[in-house]
Amino acid sequence: MDTSQLTLEGALKEVFGFDTFKGMQKEVIESLTSGNDTFVIMPTGGGKSLCYQLPAMMQDGTAIIISPLIALMKNQVDSIRSFGTQDSIAHFLNSSLNKTEITQVKEDVTAGNTKMLYLAPESLNKAENLEFLKSVNISFVAVDEAHCISEWGHDFRPEYRRIKEMIKGIDQNIPVMALTATATPKVQSDIQKNLGMTDAKVFKASFNRPNLFYEVRSKIEAAKQVIKYIKGNQGKSGIIYCLSRKKVEEIASTLQVNGIKALPYHAGFDANTRSRNQDMFLMEDVDVIVATIAFGMGIDKPDVRFVIHYDMPKSLEGYYQETGRAGRDGGEGRCIAFYDYKDIEKLEKFMNGKPVAEQEVGRQLLEEVVSYAETALSRRKFLLNYFGETFDEVNGDGAKMDDNASNPKEEIEFINEMKLLFEVILTIKERFKSKHIVDILSGKNSSEVSTYRHNNLERFGAGKEIDPKLWMAALRQALVQGYLRKDIENYGLVKFTDKGREFVANPPESFYVYKDHDYSSEIDRSAEVASSSKSQGAAMDETLLRMLKDLRREIAKQKNVPPFVVFQDPSLHDMANQFPITLEELKNIQGVGQGKAMKFGKPFADLIAKYVEENDIERPQDMVVKSVVNKSGRKVYIIQGIDRKIPLDDIASAKGMKFDELLQELEHIVDSGTRLNIDYYINDIVDEDRQDEVHDYFMEAETPKIEEALEELGEDEYSPEELRILRIKFMSEVAN
Ligand code: ADP
Ligand code: MG
Repeated sequence: MDTSQLTLEGALKEVFGFDTFKGMQKEVIESLTSGNDTFVIMPTGGGKSLCYQLPAMMQDGTAIIISPLIALMKNQVDSIRSFGTQDSIAHFLNSSLNKTEITQVKEDVTAGNTKMLYLAPESLNKAENLEFLKSVNISFVAVDEAHCISEWGHDFRPEYRRIKEMIKGIDQNIPVMALTATATPKVQSDIQKNLGMTDAKVFKASFNRPNLFYEVRSKIEAAKQVIKYIKGNQGKSGIIYCLSRKKVEEIASTLQVNGIKALPYHAGFDANTRSRNQDMFLMEDVDVIVATIAFGMGIDKPDVRFVIHYDMPKSLEGYYQETGRAGRDGGEGRCIAFYDYKDIEKLEKFMNGKPVAEQEVGRQLLEEVVSYAETALSRRKFLLNYFGETFDEVNGDGAKMDDNASNPKEEIEFINEMKLLFEVILTIKERFKSKHIVDILSGKNSSEVSTYRHNNLERFGAGKEIDPKLWMAALRQALVQGYLRKDIENYGLVKFTDKGREFVANPPESFYVYKDHDYSSEIDRSAEVASSSKSQGAAMDETLLRMLKDLRREIAKQKNVPPFVVFQDPSLHDMANQFPITLEELKNIQGVGQGKAMKFGKPFADLIAKYVEENDIERPQDMVVKSVVNKSGRKVYIIQGIDRKIPLDDIASAKGMKFDELLQELEHIVDSGTRLNIDYYINDIVDEDRQDEVHDYFMEAETPKIEEALEELGEDEYSPEELRILRIKFMSEVAN
């Protein structure tokens, strides 16, 4: 199509089918087409791609688009091609192409058919590509995901540092456009300096995403919380981010065994698996993708309804980018992060091997994550402030859309304390970090405090009556409210703003602060909740229990075994509690393993299903989280040892168990339906007559209890231990 004669609006409609520009797209495009270097900072979903795609279509020559990920390029090229133009309109050039494909790309570009050529920065570094590009009529260069230039971004890529050099090597005068969704002032200045575009026209959209709801939860039984959330939101698409590949796989399996359509995604999978899983998510064959941060850049699924951070991310930039993938269509977008300070400590440990400067950066970024998690301020205000924007938490768009704002904590009058805090900052000449300031106030003689002899200050310990955490919270609130600022270039030293100086000169009557969340005490509280929900176990359905017992009797008769061989009482109680209606669910019942479920389970599950249906019972199944690892290593060891006929005492000592503990474990194993043949052991110690006698006893017995067996068979005749061993044999042979 020839769009060169159309107006911008006309081309927008013609190429993309949109009627109006989104946000500042038009201004951005006009800036670029007038030949200016142009810097675009818009949140994820803001419509950055169109800012280069449209002018690329309208201008002569080929636009070079630099993009960090192969998957991302492919996605974009596919989407441009889907606008119904010829395939040659957009190409990518990267290491995934073979020779023939590369030749084709170069031919299309040279023939002038290609309007957009996507390149990875590595490819730009290759001499043969550079030579080729020198022969091409280039309309402009766009650097997408430009924050990759800055080590202060969340996705630093050293190859990005050389882009400017390469571009200048091709042609001094091509206009450059940089685009990013990372808005911290520090990253922005890095990008501009590095690309040599300090004179660029800057277009910065507000980062506020009013339809997103932010929430931070204490990381207690997080898998359970996640499953409960997903089950309460059936059919909605969501992303769960974990920090490690191992965790990704673990959580994905946990979701799967709990009946949730979920797939894992991380860079350790081969390209086919990754693109298959990603496509299944886009096509809604699965609802949930569990991923490392390798997933999502450039993924354009407009109706992602939740983004869960199973682990806290390493930076707020990353967090904001990832949460930004929720609700792109303007609809619901729930952002839940699970916070546990221990995770932060783990991340700090990982940094230990890295260069000192990098560690320093990493720590500062993490500190901000902690502040965000613990703050009681409006989370939206906190985030926007971090990105250099102010936000009116009362009337702003999205004002009540976070856990803190919708459920505010009590505020404390703190004016005198604020004066003290500011006094200390003045005394130490605005040259120290938050922690140091709080140490002085609290009278904590840290090594840094004594190095600077700040323990001799008049104000040292002047605020020790107050919890240091509250001092920290107050300091953060002064930062967020713009009285103080952190000098990022200088290790985050705390300085006054003009507003802060004004405060010092003319202190207000009153100043309120919130206490931060105390997740350690919330752990206690949620633990209580969790255990009380367990004790709902008492609410057993007596009618169902009777029916289950009748069924058990009937089946025992059919099979000619005692009822306890079918299922023991605790199992029936648990069934009357949990209402399992499939064999899968039955396996979750106490004392029911795979073997037992298969052998006896079906009629029980059917009975319960019918009962549930007829009585309209709401099952607590959603709350029962199955775990993937149901056979502990110890159990496996024991079962394998018995297969190899290793003496039981040796097995016990190999695992550091007392013999009694081993027996308990064996009972547990056979009671849940696994067959164990310990004849090799028994035949050595118990003669055949005695074995038969005990067998016959259990066949007729009312219960499997050892005490009753002792009474019946005679305490002088048998030891409890012997009976237990024989009962294990019996259960194995008859019940399993
Ligand atoms: P970003 O790169 O800023 O995260 P994208 O370029 O992927 O965002 O665009 C996000 C979504 O907005 C896409 O679905 C895109 O089709 C849509 N979009 C972009 N511009 C417009 C517009 N002018 N009108 C309607 N939708 C648009
Ligand atoms: Mg983009």
